Amino acid sequence: MVATPIGNLEDISLRATKILLNAQIIACEDTGHTGNLIKLLGNTKPKRYISIRDFNEAQVIEKILLELENNDVALVSDAGTPLISDPGFKLVRAAKKVVPIPGPCAAITALSAAGLPTNKFLFLGFLPKKWKILPEITTIIYESPMRIEKTVSEIKSRYPDAQIVLAHELTKIHEQILKIENCKLKILAKGEYVILVYRPKDSVQSYPKEN
Ligand code: SAM
Repeated sequence: MVATPIGNLEDISLRATKILLNAQIIACEDTGHTGNLIKLLGNTKPKRYISIRDFNEAQVIEKILLELENNDVALVSDAGTPLISDPGFKLVRAAKKVVPIPGPCAAITALSAAGLPTNKFLFLGFLPKKWKILPEITTIIYESPMRIEKTVSEIKSRYPDAQIVLAHELTKIHEQILKIENCKLKILAKGEYVILVYRPKDSVQSYPKEN
């Protein structure tokens, strides 16, 4: 289970680089995307790629488990930590031994820079279209560029006192950490976003001092 960058290639760890360069078999989402990453890392050795996606995970699992009887298989996703809103859960659950190679994850990267309490937090991944309630602790949400404005407006209208931070294009050239009070929703730029929401128990508007 090998984490890869969420934007900036330099964020790949030495350990992840070594494992990916030496792996003979790599299970990944987009074989072209991962092939390019391996090339950028400087690979020359031939490799076999097995495509693993949410919709085919159950079927390819058997194939990968068979490979695992004689070989190591490196599992990566298109970006960040596999299994975190990405495929891999069923495979990891079925495998006899899993070695995690930790690294970038958009949720934790965003949390570390948002200035919201970090002592307790909840990761919700992508919200369902109809969601009910957000808790009174820091909540981390993934959202697609197409739905970002809608989701943020909905959160803002349901919880006018909530402190909302958007982590945009993390680790990339146009990275921004935006406190929503300072940014106009209608002109949100395209790109990848993590939404962080903190609902203070009392309705104090200022950002919390506690951690
Ligand atoms: N496995 C990944 C991880 O470890 O963060 C997440 C994959 S999930 C399919 C993709 C979502 O993660 C995006 O829609 C966005 O919400 C968030 N994301 C990924 N990369 C990001 C980045 N560089 N900046 C902001 N959000 C990012």
